[in-house]
Amino acid sequence: MDPNRRSVLKGLATAGAATACASAPAMARQRKEAPADALGLLYDTTRCIGCKACVVACGQANDLAPDTNDPETAHFNPGLYDAPTDTNGSTKTVIKLYKKEGDPQTSFMKSQCMQCIDPACVGACMVGAFQKREHGIITWKGDLCIGCRYCQMVCPFNIPKFEWNKANPTIVKCELCRHRLAEGKQPGCTEVCPRQAVIYGSREQLLAEAKARIAANPGRYYQDRVYGENDLGGTQTMVLSHVNFEKIGLPELGEEGVPDRQQTIHHGIYQGFAAPIALYGIFAAVLWRNRRREAAANEEGR
Ligand code: SF4
Ligand code: SF4
Ligand code: SF4
Repeated sequence: MDPNRRSVLKGLATAGAATACASAPAMARQRKEAPADALGLLYDTTRCIGCKACVVACGQANDLAPDTNDPETAHFNPGLYDAPTDTNGSTKTVIKLYKKEGDPQTSFMKSQCMQCIDPACVGACMVGAFQKREHGIITWKGDLCIGCRYCQMVCPFNIPKFEWNKANPTIVKCELCRHRLAEGKQPGCTEVCPRQAVIYGSREQLLAEAKARIAANPGRYYQDRVYGENDLGGTQTMVLSHVNFEKIGLPELGEEGVPDRQQTIHHGIYQGFAAPIALYGIFAAVLWRNRRREAAANEEGR
C-alpha cells in the first residue's frame, strides 16, 4: 500500500481515538457481518506463476479496451498492448511482483477490489453511487456519481480508478464479474487460472479451502493466516501469502473497518467538537496530494 495512504489511515485511527477520548462516550457501532450468501475470491501467492492469463481474461470478460497507456511502458511501445503495472481506468485487476534489493523473498500479487464487508467506499460516497448489492458485491452506479472521488481517497487498497482519458469518465473497479454470475458463469479470472491460484466461491467455502491449505502445508503461509478473514472488518476477496502481507500491499491495520473509524471521529466531533481542524487538515492534505499525483500522472501519460 502507498505509505502515504497507510499513514493517513493510521492518522484516522489516531484521530478517532483522540476525539473519542476527548468527548462524551460515543455509541458503539456494531461490526457488520458478511451476508449469508456472500461470494468472493481466494488468491494464493504460493500457487501463482505470474502468467497474467487472469488479467487478459478480466479485460475480455468486462469488455475493457486493451491498456496501451501505462506510463511505465508506453514510451517503449506506444499504441501496443502491454500488461499494466497497476489497476486503472481500463484495468480491473493486475498481477504485481514484489521484489526488493536485499530481500531474498519475492512474490506475485493479484490486485483487485477486495469486496469489503464494511466498505470504506460505500461509507464515504455521499450520494450512494457505491452500494453493497447482491452477494455482498460492491457496485458503482454512474448516474448517481458527482465525481468527487472520495471513494478513491478512502479505499485502503487504492482500488477505485477514474477514466482520465474519456470525456465522460467513470469509476472503474472489479464487481466480481456479477454480469457473468447472473448467467451462471464464474468470473473471467478464475475461469482461466491454470494453477487455481485464484478461485471463486462462497466466502464460507473459500475460508474453509484457505484453512485446509494452511493445515496441509505447515510453515508455508505467513502467520498461518487468511488475510481478509477479519482484517479491516473482513473482506470477501481473501489472500494466502508466503510473505508478509504488507510487502504485497495488504495493510496491517487491525480488525476495525474504515467506516467504524470514521464514525468514531464523527461522534467525537459532533459530541465534543474536539480536533476538527486536525481532522480536516488530514483530509485536505490527502486531497491536495492526490490531485498533485493525478495531475503528474496525466502529464506523464500525454
Ligand atoms: S477494496 Fe476499496 S473499492 Fe473495494 S470494497 Fe473495499 S473500500 Fe470499496
Ligand atoms: S472477478 Fe471479474 S472483474 Fe474481478 S478481477 Fe476477476 S475477472 Fe476481473
Ligand atoms: S492466471 Fe492464475 S497463475 Fe496466472 S497470474 Fe493469474 S492468478 Fe497467477
